[in-house]
Amino acid sequence: MGVIKMKQWVCSKCGYVYTGESAPAQCPVCHVPSSAFKEKALGGEKRVLTSITKLNIQYAHRFLGYIGEAQYLHGHTGTLTLEVEGEVNTSNGFVVACNSIKNHAWEYLVNFDHAIILQKEDPILPELLKVYEAQGIKGGSPWNTSTGRAFDTDLAKAYPECRLVVVKKVATVENLIEVFYTLLKDTLNIKKLTFTSGDNAASFSV
Ligand SMILES: [Zn+2]
Ligand SMILES: [Zn+2]
Repeated sequence: MGVIKMKQWVCSKCGYVYTGESAPAQCPVCHVPSSAFKEKALGGEKRVLTSITKLNIQYAHRFLGYIGEAQYLHGHTGTLTLEVEGEVNTSNGFVVACNSIKNHAWEYLVNFDHAIILQKEDPILPELLKVYEAQGIKGGSPWNTSTGRAFDTDLAKAYPECRLVVVKKVATVENLIEVFYTLLKDTLNIKKLTFTSGDNAASFSV
């Protein structure tokens, strides 16, 4: 059996590297068209590094059925540290241009910021929606402008219009890391995620 050598294509804007016969229709990270991709020269100097990006997420949650103060609705500032591995792009010097990682991750993660994270079966959920409905803000508001991309996975569903995320499992740092990883893994070459919130932290290495 022979070895199949795949071509590699580098996004000239953000440094995203795509492996395949031809460049993708558009960059999954920064959305420029395929014409912005350049074929990577084989051989030469290769440096694989990890690029580290931090994102702050302010959110409210509670642990449903938990015996302790965390059963009450309360807030946190969490910090997600995102470690992405890749080859250094010789033209721009980045693994993935740092703002691109942040911007891309934020498209999804902004849904958790200034948001309430509740479990599906939490009886606060229908009550909260009733209040938002009565105030006319359930379906959005002209001042709710920094909304993210809606998502609906096995673990979580985002309602960007009213800054709500409904989760399947209790929103501990451990479970939230799993939610974040599922949302970001397809477009970022994640090596490690660390989420710190209050006195708690969890990390996950791929
Ligand atoms: Zn790109
Ligand atoms: Zn908490």
